[in-house]
Amino acid sequence: MTRKPLLINTHEFIKQSLEIHGKIRASQILAIQDSLYASADADEVSYTLSGDQSYRGKPSLKLDLAGQVTLCCQRCLGEMRYPLVSSTWFEVVADESVIPELDEDDEMDYIVASTQFDVGALVEEELLLSLPLAPKHEEGACTGDLSIMTGQKQNPFKVLEGLKAS
Ligand SMILES: [Zn+2]
Repeated sequence: MTRKPLLINTHEFIKQSLEIHGKIRASQILAIQDSLYASADADEVSYTLSGDQSYRGKPSLKLDLAGQVTLCCQRCLGEMRYPLVSSTWFEVVADESVIPELDEDDEMDYIVASTQFDVGALVEEELLLSLPLAPKHEEGACTGDLSIMTGQKQNPFKVLEGLKAS
């Protein structure tokens, strides 16, 4: 499934202090498919992108995410509701050469100005970065029963062998 690009002109967007609100389905993002729980299809995350000025007075885009994503706990494979709230500032620069060297004290993110900036791609990337790499329930809070799940799961090759034999 291809996503319809949502393009903005970063310069105009910031100059006019525009705002875009939208929703994105977690299951649309291929890169997080493996971390999602089976029932996560309906999970939606709302986003707001606004044109503003950073605390340094530079033209910026601010991206807010809010929602809940159902992840799959890496320890018990059980369902894990993960509340997501994030707010990220991106200073918009004229070209890549202006982006400062990576500085650990610098918490600012950067975007290169564009007349056709893809908002959807930014939202997807930020959502991806906001999720834990290996989601796990709190210690002792696992709910899924891994032993039963693995016990029931049939090895597909064994099943094939069984079919061949018969
Ligand atoms: Zn767990």
